Amino acid sequence: PWQQGGAAAGPDNSPLQIFVKAKKKINDIFGEIEDYVNDTVEYMHDIEKEQNIINTVRVKETEEFVSKVHGIRDVLCRDHMKVAFFGRTSNGKSSVINAMLHDKVLPSGIGHTTNCFLQVEGSPNDEPYLVLENSEERCAVESVGQLAHALCKEKLSESTLVKVYWPKNRCLLLRDDVVFVDSPGVDVTPNLDEWIDKHCLDADVFVLVANAESTLMVTEKNFFHKVSSKLSKPNIFILNNRWDASATEPEFLDQHCNEQEEVRRQHQERAIDFLVKELKVCSSKEAEERIFFISAKEVLQARLAEQGQTTSTPLTEGFQTRYFEFQDFERKFEECISKSAVKTKFEQHSQRGKFIANELRDILDGIYNDALKLKEDRLAQRKEVTDKITYTEQQLMVITQDMKKKIHTMVEDVEQRVSKALNE
Ligand code: GDP
Repeated sequence: PWQQGGAAAGPDNSPLQIFVKAKKKINDIFGEIEDYVNDTVEYMHDIEKEQNIINTVRVKETEEFVSKVHGIRDVLCRDHMKVAFFGRTSNGKSSVINAMLHDKVLPSGIGHTTNCFLQVEGSPNDEPYLVLENSEERCAVESVGQLAHALCKEKLSESTLVKVYWPKNRCLLLRDDVVFVDSPGVDVTPNLDEWIDKHCLDADVFVLVANAESTLMVTEKNFFHKVSSKLSKPNIFILNNRWDASATEPEFLDQHCNEQEEVRRQHQERAIDFLVKELKVCSSKEAEERIFFISAKEVLQARLAEQGQTTSTPLTEGFQTRYFEFQDFERKFEECISKSAVKTKFEQHSQRGKFIANELRDILDGIYNDALKLKEDRLAQRKEVTDKITYTEQQLMVITQDMKKKIHTMVEDVEQRVSKALNE
């Protein structure tokens, strides 16, 4: 059953679709807002020429919305879900990322210590390449070997960011806009503040890759104390990696089931205490859904075998259970990151979209009211003129009637006088 592979779910029922669909929807809405703004500006320019009802300040305000909406659309297109991995050197951060990507993307193992920040995201053109910080140049990379070589060649400081663009068609998580950040070990005298300010403030999820063979170290804990002092309630997952190694501990082999359960219980308890009591980032119930016992190495090996890249599948006892637990982690992780990213990335944009739509409505309402007022004024003016005409007409009528009467009387009078004169 582990060969079903893929992310924890198929492409279309993956929880990542919450983010993917929300992103599409908000992009469509802003597309409509952009049309609406453009139409309004065009309409305002039209009536500005013909009528005297439009205030130039209003036209300017509306024109400014064009560039605002354009800017928001730009940011929206680039929005993604970001997960950052931390832990001591060699705990298996690169291996976890590779297992999630179903491929050996990042160099891992002895001699390949990650000595800078590595960000993996989907390549727009299905070609793998990397871009160094402060550079525009795309260096083509075909293999992990080349990537490791390119990284060693450069003398990079530990907080430098190298972006690795990996073909989207090789991994569902990249296709769905998940961006992975691998960090140097927290034991490499890090400049924590700079790390967090530079690489973590926009992370939606943090994954602490711990070594299941030892307890959480002070350096690992310190880092997350710092993170949670800078971010309110960060989403943190704890992966107890190398769980396969504890399955094969010689002292566990005889009665290892009980022993292993005891070790697991202790790790679990301490990790819950760390998240709930020390960092206060979640409730104990939530914490239980954030702690996993896995083997990244086995999952990667199994997934590579599935694709025919290696022939050896892992055979260590308990492999299937650990594989399922990894898939369980992936599903919970996908749910958490997509919900969190929708909230942090889109909530502000929806507020601004609403604000712009309301402002536009107010401006158009204003124009409509001004136009109505103008119409009323003109009607009133016209009425005044009509009233005057009617009065004049009436006056004329009176005068004419009067004249008529007078002429009539005059004629009668003349007639009478004429006939009288004739008779005489
Ligand atoms: P990073 O420095 O934290 O990125 O660690 P790497 O991913 O480079 O891993 C360091 C070494 O540990 C490599 O040789 C891996 O093959 C090995 N490793 C990683 N995960 C596991 C695991 O789950 N089990 C075992 N046995 N070895 C692992």
